[in-house]
Amino acid sequence: MRENLGAPVDLDGAAAALDDADPLAHLRGRYHLDERVVYLDGNSLGPPATVVAARVASVVADEWGRRLIGSWADGWWDAPERVGELIAPLIGAAPGQVVVADSTSVDIFKLLVGGVRLRQGRHELVIDADTFPTDRYIADSVAELMGLTVGALPLDDLAGRVGAGTAVVLANHVDYRTGRLHDLAAITRTAHDAGALVLADLSHSVGALPVHLDADGVDLAVGCGYKFLGGGPGAPAFSYVRRDLQARFRTPLPGWGGHREPFAMAAGYQPVEGIGRLRSGTPDILSLLTLEAALSVWDGVLIDDVRAKSLSLTAFFVRCVDALIPADAARVVTPRGDSRGSQVSLACADAEQVISRLIDRGVIGDYRPPDLLRFGFAPLYTRHVDALAAARTLRSLL
Ligand SMILES: *Cc1c(COP(=O)(O)O)cnc(C)c1O
Repeated sequence: MRENLGAPVDLDGAAAALDDADPLAHLRGRYHLDERVVYLDGNSLGPPATVVAARVASVVADEWGRRLIGSWADGWWDAPERVGELIAPLIGAAPGQVVVADSTSVDIFKLLVGGVRLRQGRHELVIDADTFPTDRYIADSVAELMGLTVGALPLDDLAGRVGAGTAVVLANHVDYRTGRLHDLAAITRTAHDAGALVLADLSHSVGALPVHLDADGVDLAVGCGYKFLGGGPGAPAFSYVRRDLQARFRTPLPGWGGHREPFAMAAGYQPVEGIGRLRSGTPDILSLLTLEAALSVWDGVLIDDVRAKSLSLTAFFVRCVDALIPADAARVVTPRGDSRGSQVSLACADAEQVISRLIDRGVIGDYRPPDLLRFGFAPLYTRHVDALAAARTLRSLL
């Protein structure tokens, strides 16, 4: 029932009741948030957890300032694997398969090349036609370097298209524009039936919903540290290589950081055993330890609770949009069933201007060309009252 078309709907009461019943409500206090702002862009840059500032200050003053180079042996050198183990439970990975290093873009490069090397004789990469641009640019470059072709197609069409020539399928778990959630288990089965590997991009699912890499048999995965994980601007990304593929996995960026004996300064490259071979150069310690501090908020948080709240927030926002905003002013493009990530996207005319006016009024979402308003609902700190406030502000502009 549309609130502006007659019968009143008590959206305020509904929002308050949902927030009162929220088992994760206490986590909001663990983030620095400006209470004058409705922040719905945590899927692009999560806000800082309150523990982060003190941690970074002590890393600078104590670990770096006082102990200097001694800190490498005292928790710095092994940070990429240690922080990887904090992410592993969020993506359904048993220990020893996740390492944090470099950016998502660089990690896609490493994993794609390494994946193709595991499928010698195959000549094609298959990618999601709707992918975030960086994935496509990197795939094109890998294809050029390795003499491959790239097939870009909707993930729904994989089954008829992946074949004996396909080396790797690069698939997004959640579509960054529409928020549609893809079935990673089904994609993996389709690729495996053709003998291809799957590289899953988890940038918009890690920290928002359960991921089951081991159970789904996914081969390779990558994901962002600064979106739902809240690791801070430019936080390093993570890479996953399934354990049984690691021994044969060869990175195209074999820096000394992934060497079996990095401090032996040997003339030839010998990869270390395990996931550490994905490392290239010196780890980005300030960013890594910032991400580590941010991940401490997740301690004891059940990802199923996170998913339940995410679905509740996004469903409630859609309900508010249905009630408050005329259907011809904005159209929900995110799936209304459960096959969505933790965002809601609305198609509307002049979307870029609408977003900038929304931001002027303290509702932060973002614009994705050509016509999408995108709102992220990070479950650890977003409330149903925020969803309602955003829909009301949007109504006032449309
Ligand atoms: C955010 C995002 C990236 C980001 O890559 P960076 O190297 O961190 O800039 C890559 N892929 C997808 C699908 C994303 O959503």
